[in-house]
Amino acid sequence: MGLEEKLPNGVLLTSVEKAAGWARARSVWPATFGLACCAIELFQTGGPRHDLARFGMERASNTPRQADLMIVAGRLSQKMAPVLRQIYDQMSDPKWVISMGVCASSGGMFNNYAIVQGVDHIVPVDIYLPGCPPRPEMLMDSIVKLHDKIINMKLGKNRDRQITELENARLGLSPLQVISPGGSQL
Ligand code: SF4
Repeated sequence: MGLEEKLPNGVLLTSVEKAAGWARARSVWPATFGLACCAIELFQTGGPRHDLARFGMERASNTPRQADLMIVAGRLSQKMAPVLRQIYDQMSDPKWVISMGVCASSGGMFNNYAIVQGVDHIVPVDIYLPGCPPRPEMLMDSIVKLHDKIINMKLGKNRDRQITELENARLGLSPLQVISPGGSQL
């Protein structure tokens, strides 16, 4: 938001941060991005048994411009990676990413050239959710943790700088780390 960059530091900004964080945490709209079997658990989380509507999140957006949470559910192929990045770039700011399942977080058992070895090589990830697949209860737990993060989020230029640093650090990582027999990284 352009307004945030004009806010002064101090008591006023602290109060605005708290109010904005509270409002944002209770109005997160997820973008649908199911890639593999984890997506079945993601869909189940939106059903009446688990009821994402209690968090105000029942509206899964089919246009990224009306979404601010990307849940990457499943393994990401190299071919699909530019599409994922494009959708992320089109989402409205501020935005968050949950990496759902071991395949999305690290490539999982697909340790090969076709699968991205962690979606954090493509987009900055806020929450890593383990499991194969994670149960809907686990996804809801990660959403609650994300809400805590949003409530305590900084505003303005500090937030932009934090995102840029995190993203550059992730993009600089090697997709596959090869360790020599002596223990040093090749
Ligand atoms: S973590 Fe398991 S359930 Fe999820 S996409 Fe990978 S293989 Fe499928």
